[in-house]
Amino acid sequence: MRVEVVNLHKYYGKTRAVNGLNFSFESGSIVGFIGPNGAGKTTTIKIMASLQEPTYGDIYFDGVSITEYPDKIRKVVGYMPDSLPTHRDMIVEEYLDLFARAYGLKGKKRKQVLEEVQEFTNLLGIKDKSLKALSKGMRQRVSLARALVHDPEVLILDEPAAGLDPRARVELRELLTILAEQGKAVIVSSHILTELAEICTDVVIVEKGRLLTAGSIEKISAQRQQQTIVQLRTLHKDRELRRKLLEMPHVLDVRRAASYLEVEVDGGEAECAALLKHLIALDVPLVEYRLQQTKLEDLFMNLTVGEVQ
Ligand code: ATP
Repeated sequence: MRVEVVNLHKYYGKTRAVNGLNFSFESGSIVGFIGPNGAGKTTTIKIMASLQEPTYGDIYFDGVSITEYPDKIRKVVGYMPDSLPTHRDMIVEEYLDLFARAYGLKGKKRKQVLEEVQEFTNLLGIKDKSLKALSKGMRQRVSLARALVHDPEVLILDEPAAGLDPRARVELRELLTILAEQGKAVIVSSHILTELAEICTDVVIVEKGRLLTAGSIEKISAQRQQQTIVQLRTLHKDRELRRKLLEMPHVLDVRRAASYLEVEVDGGEAECAALLKHLIALDVPLVEYRLQQTKLEDLFMNLTVGEVQ
């Protein structure tokens, strides 16, 4: 499945909540949909879940337009809102059963699906609990289970990690990784980047309804960065090695960070590979050599100015 957001616009009066967005993603990917408050994330997600109509522009699911065929798209999309909307109090299993029925699941099949989603989201132990009695983390799991009952190909999650404790976040990340491995296309919105950094295959960064950048984290950081940090550890004494490093081409600075030496390299992967070759040629007893991942948080701060309309 390929999801393509094309020239998407949504205006609320004079507010241009979404102002010409274009991006796409595919099965097996987890996209971090990132932007500061008011950037237009929830609006875009609601259009993607066919809960709102765009002012103009469209979203295509394998070429099928959501504005023309919202009913078709609803069958392939699972949407997890930022909070569990419950008007009535029910127990967990009843609630999920309600949605399974709404999606047309019947008899044995429905029972089997309920069992499977509750097992996957670790709800079996609390399936008889009332929704009102659930903690935030449990509610999020119910919300995810609800989004999964019809086995959607595309999973859309609005701020799923907000308010979760660290353990629940790790669990959520694990579940999303499994779902992507199963071949679902997953898009997750957040304004807290570190929540997503480890699991996202791609990021889409928006601000004031516009796209700032999209692509893999490596690609975006490579475009933005002229310098790369290499972390290395050797059996040599620091001072001697430092002097050698500073004499090498492309090395801008060398500093100590915890048990590593951090080398600031003027360039990207090619320059780092040349540096490694140099070190080996000099017989430096290297134990570790790695390029520091650009922190998503830094990237985000570099890209956005945090302006809202
Ligand atoms: P947050 O991270 O704070 O949830 P967001 O990126 O999800 O923000 P949206 O909720 O999509 O942003 O809002 C984008 C803009 O559209 C904001 O300026 C918001 O005030 C405005 N907006 C959203 N929904 C409505 C509405 N129903 N009526 C009028 N304006 C709206």
